[in-house]
Amino acid sequence: MNPPTAGFRTRRAALALTGAAGLTGAAVLALALTDGPPSATASRPAPGASPRTSAAERPSPGAPGLGDPLMPLDGNGGYTLRHCTLDFDWRAPGTPFPATATLKATATQALSRFDLDFAGNTLHTVTVDGRPAKAVRDGDELVVTPGRPLPRGRTFTVRVSYTADPTQHRHRDDAIQDYGWMPTADGTVLALQPNGARMVFPADDHPSVRAPYTFHVTTPPGLTAVANGRLVARTSVPGGRTRWTYDSEQPLAAQLVQLAVGRFTLVDAAGPGGLPVRDVVPDALVDGTAEYRALTADHLAWLEKRLGPYPFRRYGVLVGDPDLPVALETQSLSVVPGADLLGDRVSAERNLVHELAHHWTGDSVALARWSDLWLSEGHARYYERLYTDEHGGPDMEDALRDAYAQHDQWRHDDGAPAEPRAGTLFRQMRYDGSALVLYALREEVGQAVFDRIERSWVTTYRGRVAGTADFVRLASDLAGRDLAPFFRQWLYGAHTPPMPGRPDWRTAPVEE
Ligand SMILES: [Zn+2]
Repeated sequence: MNPPTAGFRTRRAALALTGAAGLTGAAVLALALTDGPPSATASRPAPGASPRTSAAERPSPGAPGLGDPLMPLDGNGGYTLRHCTLDFDWRAPGTPFPATATLKATATQALSRFDLDFAGNTLHTVTVDGRPAKAVRDGDELVVTPGRPLPRGRTFTVRVSYTADPTQHRHRDDAIQDYGWMPTADGTVLALQPNGARMVFPADDHPSVRAPYTFHVTTPPGLTAVANGRLVARTSVPGGRTRWTYDSEQPLAAQLVQLAVGRFTLVDAAGPGGLPVRDVVPDALVDGTAEYRALTADHLAWLEKRLGPYPFRRYGVLVGDPDLPVALETQSLSVVPGADLLGDRVSAERNLVHELAHHWTGDSVALARWSDLWLSEGHARYYERLYTDEHGGPDMEDALRDAYAQHDQWRHDDGAPAEPRAGTLFRQMRYDGSALVLYALREEVGQAVFDRIERSWVTTYRGRVAGTADFVRLASDLAGRDLAPFFRQWLYGAHTPPMPGRPDWRTAPVEE
């Protein structure tokens, strides 16, 4: 995701730097050192279930969430999601429509019941392996009790029929602003980060949970549906409607799902090595956005030079309405506001490069937990800054010296880079504040070692889930020394450490 940035032309006010008092402590440090997918501890069976007696294991409820410190109920325990199929019978903008979600999963404990993440919409029926199941809603949890318990290791299919409400969205007071369905004049775009998937379909809604998706969307005449991955089929159905089928090809997190309907033109192109590139553009914006969209091949080549091969099988830019609030790294099909592609070149490229860079860091290397967001947004902002510095934009060192000056204030307002508090997640500390940490690392270990760390990070954890402790370990290995003390100060300390090699850089006094 990319909010407006100081030093660039922006269409919205700068982010408000408000927040609660600073919070640090041993608990956070302990968390940092035991980093990993939160499911390792949070989704274990409830007391009473013995973990090693699968045949005789007494069924118990799956945990309602993965225990992420920032969003504990997000994701679900007791099963591993294998595949997700969404069937949408789209009608008209702002109009409820019939929908079905079919999730395949494998029980990791004997399950008496399990949860999905689901909010709003109108629930009709739930089945497990074709048999009716009891389904009760509890806040954002959909608690499903199958007719008979599921033994550990059983792969099962849960099917939820509902009427989807394509107006549903929520608001956050950070850079995300509105998320969920983003209605347009003739259809919709999705912006689900951080946990808005539940407003669109029953989900296993945590960034560490990934599965392949199949999308079936039926549209009225004249409309096009698009989604992550490859267009598999486009068939005519009665009533002059069209059924579009997409295959995500590679697993993705619920927050990175894109599914858009509108009067779109599909524009095919090619990236380096013949990588298929397909832009999805509102008919009226095809010509106006052509110049900057054509830069994608250059952006791919520039990032591949630094981070290695692009990690997915295709790419494209979905041009959103001009007033879409933010750009977003929806996997294999980034969405960028139309206005950003109609203005000056530096502003256009900074968003295009930022969302593309996320495909290595944030999409391919997925977040283990939300407090690892600095790794995703920090890297995306770092490469955005580096690229624009080389292509007519603001000087990167000047921008990061400014970020350094504000870093103690951000630490106070937003939490340290790897220590966000609820409500401060998508604040400037996770953007320039975290790009600054990577810059400090570069100054600490030198350009050559830094380049090896970067490439190794996205190669080692390609298609996997990784967190802060993984990054610290990998960087230490490649630097040939323990960098944990360095990272501990930068990522968790109450004060910003000195910038290596820049003794003249100063932080401004913190204002309460
Ligand atoms: Zn971003």
